Amino acid sequence: MACYQLQLSVMYYIQEADGSISQHYGPPPTHLVPINTGLPTAASTVVTPTMSDDSQEDPRKGFGPSKLGVRTTVDEPLSASQAIEVLQAGNRRFVRGDVKARGLGPDKRRALASHGQRPIATVIGCADSRCPVEQLFDARPGDIFVLRNAGNTCTHAEGSMVGSVEYSVLNLETKMILVLGHTGCGAIMGATKLYMERYIEMTRPKDAQESTDQSTEASESEQPQQLCGCKKSTLLKLLDALVPVAEQACVELGGGSTEEIAAHAVKVNVWRTINFLLSYSLIIREKVASGEVELQGAVYDMSSGAVEFLGKSPKQAQLLNSDAHVVPSMQA
Ligand SMILES: [Zn+2]
Repeated sequence: MACYQLQLSVMYYIQEADGSISQHYGPPPTHLVPINTGLPTAASTVVTPTMSDDSQEDPRKGFGPSKLGVRTTVDEPLSASQAIEVLQAGNRRFVRGDVKARGLGPDKRRALASHGQRPIATVIGCADSRCPVEQLFDARPGDIFVLRNAGNTCTHAEGSMVGSVEYSVLNLETKMILVLGHTGCGAIMGATKLYMERYIEMTRPKDAQESTDQSTEASESEQPQQLCGCKKSTLLKLLDALVPVAEQACVELGGGSTEEIAAHAVKVNVWRTINFLLSYSLIIREKVASGEVELQGAVYDMSSGAVEFLGKSPKQAQLLNSDAHVVPSMQA
């Protein structure tokens, strides 16, 4: 047991009850036994005898490295490529049903409260209750800076979304910004239905339009009522702002059913949100241009549980030349 000869100054790892790997310095507790984890340490590493073989995956990719068992400001920021590795590893565990993020004990809660946050990534996701960002990446509190709304969009309340992303990049030093859409998105489907109804109305023969107009005004109000519960609502405004996404999806597909257009619109919407961030944030553009930060898209498949990573926006290079510093609603 060579490691015990170095008890005064060894670095060792412990697998916690929740399955996470925490890093420690100093003499290891005597009830621990040494194993070879392959981690680069100054001395041997030891884990509890209950260390199971469920972590055949490189533990450095299981969660982000964390000196206190959770990510705090005592940890170094992760690069964008490291962050993607951790997110992908977490999603693989989620798909397998082999999740390790099972809650925090008092020590880790105190560590988070007293040492501040150093999340591995910033994620903009949909508010859909079936798409909990932390869980589908098998992440713990402190691991991901999450922003969510219906449709993972910056169409309205864009100041709070963009400003929050800027905060995470500047102050929390996240290097990966991920915009995450998902299959079966209700917001995108709602916007696609609005688009299809308007498109059908616009392309109908003129006499048919006049005949409908004369018949009743109620027919117009019934369309948004079906989607939004009333003729005038904030929800309708939100969906209305997503209609261009459906329109672009329809053009790119060359037509299709409502379901086909909505499915493609999920990806179009991811790019639209990314492009908005690039267009209206000088902070994000500078970080992306310098290579310090990456802005990528992804789509979560609700059936398989897998997240498909889409990479960078095709328009990134072009949008890095934008000159706006703040979002439209905040421009004086
Ligand atoms: Zn959604």
